[in-house]
Amino acid sequence: MSSALDFLDDKYICPHCNQEMTLCNAPPVHVGDGLGWGSEYLFICLNDECKLFVDGWAYIENQYGHMGSYRYMRIPHSKESYNMMVGSRLAFTGSIVDIEQVKSQNERFCKEKEAIAKLDTCVEEHNLEPVLYLLLDPHPSLDVRKRAAELLKQINDISCIDPLRNHDFKDTYLEQAVNMAISAILADHYMKECPYCAEIIKAQAKMCKHCQKELG
Ligand SMILES: [Zn+2]
Ligand SMILES: [Zn+2]
Repeated sequence: MSSALDFLDDKYICPHCNQEMTLCNAPPVHVGDGLGWGSEYLFICLNDECKLFVDGWAYIENQYGHMGSYRYMRIPHSKESYNMMVGSRLAFTGSIVDIEQVKSQNERFCKEKEAIAKLDTCVEEHNLEPVLYLLLDPHPSLDVRKRAAELLKQINDISCIDPLRNHDFKDTYLEQAVNMAISAILADHYMKECPYCAEIIKAQAKMCKHCQKELG
């Protein structure tokens, strides 16, 4: 998990009601002055029994003559807290963060970044792992995956063939690049694929040792 998101497991307690606060997506702009919060996420007390929220309605009515109340809010990674004005009980209830989903997205993103960083050294280290990861995962950008396909041939490891062979790449260029790399690797190892059972066999074999079919 990247340190930027290490607050996902944090628990904040609202000082007005002693209830746990809820992680929400921050609204795009700072309500009122148009500045950003400096954070994608905010901890907000969404407890409808919270004293700040319950008392806020009368206070705002008296002070400003319109309907509204306050929710207690804290910015992650900061000691800053605010009484944030809300127009209705439902404000922010639609922006509650699905923490498990954010965690798994972030985990995937970190793995991808790690794999991309390893591409620089994968040929000298004979390390197929980051290349396979980036080719088999549909999320990385096409440019990154094309780069991985180019490195396949340089790593020249015949064990890359099985996981790649039956993968649906959804992109013709990428699929072609992978197929070309596989052909080059097979040729370099004096091997071929049996046209009947797809097992890898010697290039000169007249009969497949796996399916016993005769090869022309
Ligand atoms: Zn509260
Ligand atoms: Zn065969």
